[in-house]
Amino acid sequence: MKLTLKEIAKVVHAKNDWSVLTDREIPKIEFDSRLIEPGDLFLPLKGVRDGHDFIPTAFENGAFATFSEKKVEQTHLLVDDCLKAFQELAKYYLEKTNVEVIAVTGSNGKTTTKDMIAAVLSEKYSTYKTQGNHNNEIGLPYTVLHMPDNTQKLVLEMGMDHPGDIDFLSNLAQPDLAIITLIGEAHLEFMGNRRNIAKGKMGIQAGLGVENELIAPADPIINEFIYNQQKITRFGADEDIFVTNLVEHRNYLSFNTNFLNVTITIPVPGKYNATNAMLAAYVGFKMGLSEKEIKQGLEHVELTRNRTEWKKAANGADILADVYNANPTAMRLILETFQAIEKNEGGRKLVVLADMLELGNQSAELHAKMIESLNFEILDKVYLYGPMMKSLYQVANGNPNVSYFTDLENLSATIKKDLQPNDQILFKGSNGMKLFNVIEDLEKNI
Ligand code: ATP
Ligand code: MG
Repeated sequence: MKLTLKEIAKVVHAKNDWSVLTDREIPKIEFDSRLIEPGDLFLPLKGVRDGHDFIPTAFENGAFATFSEKKVEQTHLLVDDCLKAFQELAKYYLEKTNVEVIAVTGSNGKTTTKDMIAAVLSEKYSTYKTQGNHNNEIGLPYTVLHMPDNTQKLVLEMGMDHPGDIDFLSNLAQPDLAIITLIGEAHLEFMGNRRNIAKGKMGIQAGLGVENELIAPADPIINEFIYNQQKITRFGADEDIFVTNLVEHRNYLSFNTNFLNVTITIPVPGKYNATNAMLAAYVGFKMGLSEKEIKQGLEHVELTRNRTEWKKAANGADILADVYNANPTAMRLILETFQAIEKNEGGRKLVVLADMLELGNQSAELHAKMIESLNFEILDKVYLYGPMMKSLYQVANGNPNVSYFTDLENLSATIKKDLQPNDQILFKGSNGMKLFNVIEDLEKNI
């Protein structure tokens, strides 16, 4: 970070007399006192505990100075609100470095699309991206202030828990190009309905220059929230941009697009990943990469954490694990992908579905509706787990191939008894339902 303490003090309007402080270039800012290295600036944030309690630890680890909302004995910049100061500084830093910002929001696929865009752009430019999933009002400025000095393109993930979150992040980051991956049902609990979600995501236009492009799904629900001065590229069948010739293989996908002449291959399954990759290809195309560069970038993409992954049970059965998060759109799509895959010789297809969390008062209905995505001509057994899955169990109407569990250990024991070496089994559910424990167990001992 090419900022000195005095420059930072000036930007955040520090209220103490910082002119008397020794000046020095600050290597980086950390809010976790354990990550402080000599020379760093500490940022006390209020979480479960007040970050100000950790100022002494930060200095023991070599902090040069700290932000603070109260007078302390250590070298500090006195501000009203440490988080606001941090955000203002990130905004200033983006303006100063003039790096090109690509913003990604949407109900699902943000991290994946962000990783894919960065993989493509890295073929030509020094590219930095949101690390992991740090997509909120702390993670985004943290990403900005941690980008390497030579960064040319910065790909930022923007997450939304509440109305207005995306407007705020967009105003901070002032994107040059913005992408909405999907208007889904995530966070219905806080957002109420899909229209509010659409409105929230469209807040990405808040900081997007009037000349700058927004890439958004064909979904008409966003139409009423379009600011008319923006250039909008819509994606979906027969829209401005779309996927063609999608071929799904067990471990990879290949497809074409309506704007490139090359066939793209990506080393991940799941048909939604073709859409994510198509969006990344389009960003590369707009930013002047050759078809070869785009193709290469996507061939080698490494996702933050592979969210849709094939694993092997200890007895040889194939496990398709997609248990990082879940909502109706993602569950429907992974079921389509799984049901379309050929059975192993002599093997069966089994599905384990656990609750989708945070769906608010439409939760029972949305779980029950999943019945439309289950093809019992293909699926040999369906195991449902969790309080909300009870409503899906009820609409399955006594189908003998569907069983229901309220206890993770029972579920695990039953699957262990049933699963044969030639079977394929899909796991899908919210992270909080802990299906990964069942999968880990199957990988080790069955
Ligand atoms: P979070 O809100 O947790 O940050 P995210 O939007 O970053 O999530 P990813 O981590 O990229 O999303 O993907 C999470 C899951 O969403 C995937 O495992 C997959 O099941 C589903 N998914 C990914 N891309 C799409 C898409 N384009 N449309 C629908 N579902 C998708
Ligand atoms: Mg994410």
